[in-house]
Amino acid sequence: MNFKLSPEIEAVRDMVARFMANEVVPVMEDYEKRQEFPRELIRKAGEAGLYGAVFPESVGGSDMGYMAAVVIIEEMSRQEVRFTSCNNQQGGTCPSAIYLAGTPEQVDKYVPNLLAGKTIGMMSLSETDSGSDALIAMKTFARRDGDVYRISGQKMWASIANETDVGILMAKTDRDAGAKGVTAFIVEPKKYPGFKAQPIDLLGMSKAFRTNAVFLDDFIVPVENRLGAEGEGAKIIMRALQPGRLNVAAKCLGLAQACFEEAVRYANERTVRQQPLGRYQMIQDSIAEMATAIEASRGLVYRAAWAMDNDQPSNRIASIAKYHASQTCKMCADKAQQIFGGYGLAREYRVSWYRVYADMLYNGEGSANVQKIIIAEDALGYKVADRHHGKTGLRDMRQTDVAAAAR
Ligand SMILES: Cc1cc2nc3c(=O)[nH]c(=O)nc-3n(C[C@H](O)[C@H](O)[C@H](O)COP(=O)(O)OP(=O)(O)OC[C@H]3O[C@@H](n4cnc5c(N)ncnc54)[C@H](O)[C@@H]3O)c2cc1C
Repeated sequence: MNFKLSPEIEAVRDMVARFMANEVVPVMEDYEKRQEFPRELIRKAGEAGLYGAVFPESVGGSDMGYMAAVVIIEEMSRQEVRFTSCNNQQGGTCPSAIYLAGTPEQVDKYVPNLLAGKTIGMMSLSETDSGSDALIAMKTFARRDGDVYRISGQKMWASIANETDVGILMAKTDRDAGAKGVTAFIVEPKKYPGFKAQPIDLLGMSKAFRTNAVFLDDFIVPVENRLGAEGEGAKIIMRALQPGRLNVAAKCLGLAQACFEEAVRYANERTVRQQPLGRYQMIQDSIAEMATAIEASRGLVYRAAWAMDNDQPSNRIASIAKYHASQTCKMCADKAQQIFGGYGLAREYRVSWYRVYADMLYNGEGSANVQKIIIAEDALGYKVADRHHGKTGLRDMRQTDVAAAAR
């Protein structure tokens, strides 16, 4: 066993730390006040290689792998969790779905621009009446009409749909086939009519990165933008969600670390009865609980990344990592807020809104309960979590250079 990160990955962490400290942290609050989407910052992050760690160089990635990716996301989230709101859209689920299932032409046309932050991504699966069971309960329908599909329905919770240039949207093409009736589409809302994104008012969350309800009214998608065959959508999105899940686990880890660092700083600064808070043993109890859980989560998240980099079964361990990191994040956000006392509710202290992000990450990319179902059904022998290992295409994502093969 080797617990040491490679010098290359350590150097990447330093680069990300500098990028965030110099380019993002000083200006993010201004974007929030102006309620302005930080398009230029995303382009800079793309240029710096923050989104392309698991993609080959031929599509603009760095091919450094999942371990590098989690270290990048952990550091981004530690410094400014709001800015990670588009990581899955730029470097996770959205480009992964296109890369894993797209034709060489689709990959070439869309993936490099997403990784470079030149176009803004989206992944729209959830609906008003379908969340954890999104693939089965989905109502949005795509009707074939000659060379185009016309999509009608309402999607829900589509992050940055109000800004997206190129996204993945899931719709049924066969209403009676359950999850096998779902098809994936590459959508370009600025190019075609029938797509309206309505930002949702979320308490304590970013006003720069919005999550949206999406109203689709005969929204046009050319047939050439269908991703895979009709009915293959469930398979495609489940494959793409696995790196997305690890991505969210790394976000949880970074945010837990941020809560811990804020709590330690405040416990040393704030005096009560002439002593720093940190001198009181009940505060020390919280600090020790946070430090221990963060180390355990880091071990699990890195272990899952290692499994994905080394073509080992990774679905079960990714679920365990996501579940543990999201629990840790929630616990750390809660304890940090308690240590801040009344100030933990004042917006100028970041811990006041860290908690909302911890709650969001607890549910995102497969809720905690969904992860527990995967873990428990595997343990009880009902459903092997890694039954698709070798068929997910995740290995191909690292080893088969789709774009290069097409040239
Ligand atoms: C800020 C934000 C951004 C988001 N961004 C996106 C996005 O970009 N794209 C997208 O497609 N979606 C997005 N989502 C949606 C997110 O993925 C869903 O919220 C998540 O899948 C859970 O679905 P739900 O909220 O409908 O909860 P439900 O599925 O209704 O679940 C409600 C509760 O029941 C639990 N539960 C569900 N099933 C079971 C079960 N079988 N046994 C026990 N308990 C169960 C859940 O864990 C949860 O606690 C976003 C959500 C938020 C809040």
